[in-house]
Amino acid sequence: MSIAENILKVKSELPEGVRLVAVSKTKPAGTILEAYKAGQRCFGENRAQEMAAKHPVLPADIEWHFIGHLQSNKVKYIAPFVSLIESVDSRKLLNEIDREAARNHRIIPCLLQFHIAEEETKFGLSVEEAEQLLDSYLVRQERNIRICGVMGMATFTENMEQVRKEFSHLREIFLKLKSRYFENDPAFCEISMGMSDDFQTAIGEGSTMVRIGSRIFGPRNRHD
Ligand SMILES: *Cc1c(COP(=O)(O)O)cnc(C)c1O
Repeated sequence: MSIAENILKVKSELPEGVRLVAVSKTKPAGTILEAYKAGQRCFGENRAQEMAAKHPVLPADIEWHFIGHLQSNKVKYIAPFVSLIESVDSRKLLNEIDREAARNHRIIPCLLQFHIAEEETKFGLSVEEAEQLLDSYLVRQERNIRICGVMGMATFTENMEQVRKEFSHLREIFLKLKSRYFENDPAFCEISMGMSDDFQTAIGEGSTMVRIGSRIFGPRNRHD
């Protein structure tokens, strides 16, 4: 099937209110343009310089989501244009995003990434770390970031019951933070979870945003 057909198929499986982030990491600009022509406007990348290189050669109304581990010293490459940084996993990174956003006269929307998988290798905050971060965030009142919700990746396993539990856990974290810190903040509303092999399970557990790569663009070029 073509990229356009893949996008239509995935979209037909998403209920209203669930957004599709087409994960275009490692794919060339021409491939992204094919998806754009099929109506897709939101793309996810996991390397700052790769995203910064694609941005100027593709249509300006694309929404770029950063979905990978982001080093503080790379924020400057994406701060002028990024639509959502989905992978905030430290106070240090949040500070740097705030600074670079101010320098660009922008407010950058962010999600807090949580470690919900069994695997050691996946990045993300624990609930305790997030609460520490948010306690200081509310005191300091950074003006150039907006925290819009949470993101997480489930364990890479065929055991869908385990995957379901991990997504359910992320939703519980979202609800806890919502009631404790964001009760009166409608902007805190996103739960980004679900990839090519588990997005239906994620939707069943309350996902508002799925990040799908290989189901749209075919197998990955390299392992990342
Ligand atoms: C690569 C990646 C995806 C997409 O994975 P697929 O299995 O190809 O759909 C989603 N989220 C993150 C954080 C990724 O790095």
